[in-house]
Amino acid sequence: MLRLLGYLLMNGVATSKDYCPSLGDEAIGLPKLASNNCIGSECSKCSDICPTEAISVLDGGPNANLELDLGKCIGCAMCIRICPEKTFSSNASTETAAVNRKSLVLSTKALDIQAVNDIEGARSPFARSVACRVVSTGCSACDLELSAASNSIFDMERFGIQIVASPRFADVLLVTGPVPKAMHAALKSCYDAMAEPKRVVAVGTCAISGGLHGSGYAEANGISDLLPVDVYIPGCPPHPWSIIDGIRKVMR
Ligand code: SF4
Ligand code: SF4
Repeated sequence: MLRLLGYLLMNGVATSKDYCPSLGDEAIGLPKLASNNCIGSECSKCSDICPTEAISVLDGGPNANLELDLGKCIGCAMCIRICPEKTFSSNASTETAAVNRKSLVLSTKALDIQAVNDIEGARSPFARSVACRVVSTGCSACDLELSAASNSIFDMERFGIQIVASPRFADVLLVTGPVPKAMHAALKSCYDAMAEPKRVVAVGTCAISGGLHGSGYAEANGISDLLPVDVYIPGCPPHPWSIIDGIRKVMR
C-alpha cells in the first residue's frame, strides 16, 4: 500500500480533470465553417474533392450558400487545405455529439451556429447511470476509441457509463460501422432484445450515414433507416471525449 501511495504521489493522477477539453494544436478535428467568403459554384473545389459528398455548394458567389454535413464528414481536412477563401477551419471542440440529425448540417448562412450542442427536453431515466451494449459493424477504429474512453485518462465509468455483454442488460445500443446489409437482421435482433426504455447512439460517421461506404453495393448506409437514433456522434473515428459527450447526452 505504501509503495502504491508513493507511486501515485510521484506520478500524479492520469485521469483528466477537465470535461471535454479542446483538441491540441497538433490534432485535426472535424471542419467548421469559418467565413462566408465562398465564391460559389464556379469554384466548387471543396465539394469536388470531398470523398463523402459532405459539402453542397448551393449557388454562385460571392458569399455563396454552402452546406457542410458533419454526419457525412470523415475529417480528412482536404476541404480546409484546398479552399482559396479559407471558408473552412479545424474545429478543436470535442463536444460534437448531436441529438438532432439536422443540427449536424452547418451552413454559411448561419455562421454563428457552429456548435451542435442541441440538448433539450425532459430529464432522462438514465440520468445517474447507463448500461451500453456495443454492436460493431465496421473497421473497428470507432471501437478502439470507445475502448480508449474506458481507460484511466478518460474513465467513462466515473460518469456512470458501463459497457455490458448482453442486450438484455442494456439501456443504450451503441452502433459503430456503416451497418452493411449482412448486419441488418443481427442489429435488429439485438435492439429487439433490449427492454424499454432504450436508446440508440450512432457512434461515428459510418453509423450515421455510411461514410465512405454509403450508397455502395453492401447497402451500408448507417442506421438511420433501420433504428430510431437518439444521439449522433460524428467523426471518423470520434474522439473518446466526443463519445463520452454523446452518451452523456442520452443521460442528460
Ligand atoms: S473551395 Fe472554398 S471558395 Fe471554392 S466552393 Fe468550396 S468553399 Fe467556396
Ligand atoms: S474534412 Fe469532411 S467535409 Fe472536408 S473534404 Fe474531408 S470529408 Fe469532406
